[in-house]
Amino acid sequence: EASGHIRNTAGSAVTHEQKSKRWNVLKQAALRGALQAGQIGVHYQPVVAVKGHRIVSLEALARWHHPQLGEIPPGEFIPVAERTGLIVPLGQFVLRSACEQVMRWEQEGVPTVGVAVNVSPAQLEVENFAEQVRRILRDTGMPPHKLALELTESTFIANLPRHTQTLEQLRAAGVRVQIDDFGTGYSSLAYLRRLPIDAIKIDRSFVRQLGVDATDEAIVAAIMAMARSLRLTVIAEGVETALQLDALARHDCEAAQGFYFSRPLEPERCRQLLLDMSERPSFTDTLRIQLA
Ligand code: C2E
Ligand code: MG
Ligand code: MG
Ligand code: MG
Repeated sequence: EASGHIRNTAGSAVTHEQKSKRWNVLKQAALRGALQAGQIGVHYQPVVAVKGHRIVSLEALARWHHPQLGEIPPGEFIPVAERTGLIVPLGQFVLRSACEQVMRWEQEGVPTVGVAVNVSPAQLEVENFAEQVRRILRDTGMPPHKLALELTESTFIANLPRHTQTLEQLRAAGVRVQIDDFGTGYSSLAYLRRLPIDAIKIDRSFVRQLGVDATDEAIVAAIMAMARSLRLTVIAEGVETALQLDALARHDCEAAQGFYFSRPLEPERCRQLLLDMSERPSFTDTLRIQLA
């Protein structure tokens, strides 16, 4: 036992597999601790109307402020949360925080818009997910139509009928549902038609070359045609240039989200932006916030 421990700290007797397992246990423990210690926060990225550049909504994005490591990006900790089930409490936390934030702004007289929150497949698996969402809406006073839930296409592969039912309950309550990272999964028309959704977000991989590459423009045109026939709103993700925005306008895409307008902002900066936007006629100047 003791000699085993010594050999382990020396590293020699520990297999690569064991190491990676223990590393994962450490990450999981750190994330659990972070949730309890209040190190998880929420930033907000504006979603902007392609015509007129009004802010139409915000996307809530989880942030981990680690006391020693600084900001840990969601790409690092969301997969850990998903593997370990911690995504359920984390997702609940983000959802509640976003609703509380919007309602606090409303009470302070900050003109608010809706907020979109990412939902992982494991959250939909929770038996009473719809009820939990409704409880958060009740507790915070958030009007259901101001909340959108973002799900990826892969969410629906595993358990389509039950998920569809859950989402239908939420939509009946007024909550909006949108497909995130659209185009990266099984985007078949037949399946989209069956889903109770209001909007799709074009994945940024199709936006990157917009205005430069004709193939991407053709893909966006096809997505727009499909969305129109299904009466879905379209939001483009990852918009970084005026060229991309022009192409989206040509295809009558309704809304855009990306660094061209603003990075995800900490709550205080987002609050200031919402206030500025309500006072200025020139939305474009106000909106082009570039953070380092
Ligand atoms: P997502 O839901 O597709 O969110 C959009 C991501 O794109 C965000 O990354 C945002 O910062 C980034 N982004 C926005 N505009 C641009 C742009 O112009 N260029 C580029 N290159 N990126 C842009 P972020 O915040 O790092 O989040 C990454 C992913 O982590 C999210 O992708 C989402 O899938 C996941 N995530 C974040 N917060 C949560 C959460 O609370 N719950 C769940 N389940 N997943 C979350
Ligand atoms: Mg999203
Ligand atoms: Mg997502
Ligand atoms: Mg996305």
